[in-house]
Amino acid sequence: MKKELELVAMSTWLPTNGLPAVISGPCSAETESQTIATAKQLAATGKVNALRAGIWKPRTRPGQYEGAGAEGLNWLIQAKKETGLPVTTEVANAAHVEACLKAGVDILWVGARTTVNPFSVQEIADSLKGVDIPVMVKNPVNPDLELWIGALERLNKAGIKKLAAIHRGFSSFDKGPFRNAPMWDLAIELKTRIPELDIICDPSHIAGNRDLIALISQKAIDLNMSGLMIESHINPDAAWSDAKQQVTPAVLGNIIEGLVARKPSTDNKTFKDTLAVLREQIDQLDDEIMQKLAKRMTISEKIGQYKKENNVTILQVGRWEEIIATRLAMSMAMGLSEEFIKDMLKLIHNESIQIQTKVMNKEGERV
Ligand code: PEP
Ligand code: MN
Repeated sequence: MKKELELVAMSTWLPTNGLPAVISGPCSAETESQTIATAKQLAATGKVNALRAGIWKPRTRPGQYEGAGAEGLNWLIQAKKETGLPVTTEVANAAHVEACLKAGVDILWVGARTTVNPFSVQEIADSLKGVDIPVMVKNPVNPDLELWIGALERLNKAGIKKLAAIHRGFSSFDKGPFRNAPMWDLAIELKTRIPELDIICDPSHIAGNRDLIALISQKAIDLNMSGLMIESHINPDAAWSDAKQQVTPAVLGNIIEGLVARKPSTDNKTFKDTLAVLREQIDQLDDEIMQKLAKRMTISEKIGQYKKENNVTILQVGRWEEIIATRLAMSMAMGLSEEFIKDMLKLIHNESIQIQTKVMNKEGERV
C-alpha cells in the first residue's frame, strides 16, 4: 500500500502509558476562573492527558458566544502552569496560529468547519512551515473522506508530522439520534487507508447530549481508536456554548473509569484479526439498524398524529397484510428465514401501534 503520510506516533507527543489519550476541557474558555477551575478539577481525576478549550468559536448562527479571543490564550497557559497539562485549542486561520505559537500552546486542532475549506487549511499549513507542533484535524462537517485526508496531506506537506485525526461525526439535514451522525465506516476506512494515523474520537460533538457520551466512548475504544476528546465544564448547564453535551470533570473521570479495556480472547493472530473485522462490520450494521428503527418509529408517531387529525383508525389491516407480503418476499429472496422475519415484523408493527395509540390518546395540545 502506498504510504500516504509521513507520521510521528501520538504516543511520542502525548504519552499515556499505553492507555487511550484523554483530552478534555470546556467547549469554550469563558473566563479565566472557569478555565483554570475546570483544568484543576480535570487534573485531579488523574485521567486526563491534555486540556482543551475553544478560544475562537465558529458558531453556526451569529449572535452566539464567539469566544474570548486572544486574551483566552493567557488563561489556557495559566491553566497549564497550574496543572502541568499540555493545552490545545482550535485554529481557523494564520492569525490564530501565530497567536497560539506566541503564547506557547502545545497542540493545535483544526475544526470541522475549517477542514471543509482547502483555502483555510492551506493558509494554516503555510503558517506552520518550519514549526514543530502537533496538529489534530477534525473530520469535515460533510462525510467526505478525501477532504479529511486532503487536509492532513496539506499539513503534512508543510512539514507537520505530529498529526492525528479527530472523528466528530457528520452533520445532515435529516436529524437522527445524534447531533452529528457518527458514520463509523468513514473512520474505519480512514484507519484502513492510513493504518499508522492515530484517530481520536470526539463523543461530545457526535452525541450533542451528555447521556450518550459513555456509550460512544466505549464504541471508540472497541474500534481501537487512540484517544477521546470530551468536553467538560465546572457547571455544564450554565456553559456559554454546547451546554447539553458537556459533563463535569468528576463525571468525565467516571466515564473514563467505566470504560472497558478490550482484551483478546485468544493469542491466535489470524483468529483475532478475522473476528475483529467481522465484529466491526456487525457493530456498524447494528448501529445502522438502530438508527433506522428509531427513524421508523418517529415516522409512526407522525402517522399517528395525522390519523388522529383525520379521525382514521390506527390499525389498517390491508396495509399490514401488504407489509407482511412484500417484506417476506423480499427477505426470503435474500436468504432470510420466514419465521425470523415474521417475528421481527410483528414486533415492529406492535411497537408502531403502541406509539400511535399514545399519540391518539394524548390530551390537550396537538403535538
Ligand atoms: C469544538 O470542538 O468545540 C468545535 C467547535 O467542534 P467542531 O469543529 O467539531 O464543530
Ligand atoms: Mn463544542
